[in-house]
Amino acid sequence: MLVLRPNCECCDKDLPAESQEARICTFECTFCADCVRDRLSGVCPNCGGELLQRPRRPADRLLNNPASTERVHHRVPCAA
Ligand SMILES: [Zn+2]
Ligand SMILES: [Zn+2]
Repeated sequence: MLVLRPNCECCDKDLPAESQEARICTFECTFCADCVRDRLSGVCPNCGGELLQRPRRPADRLLNNPASTERVHHRVPCAA
């Protein structure tokens, strides 16, 4: 199951499960839309993969399959 991380790894912005701004790569590295566009050029800085919009889990499914609360931040410094 997809891990819905709660924040952008780059700028630490909150990205709740229902956010349309969340972007993920195939390893579930998670960034906000602004960082992907302005700093990362659509490429994951951790693995080099594509960053695409994270699918939103329906609210009724979140009850039994909640989003992650484990924040991941700055494992790799973001490009300026
Ligand atoms: Zn960000
Ligand atoms: Zn990645």
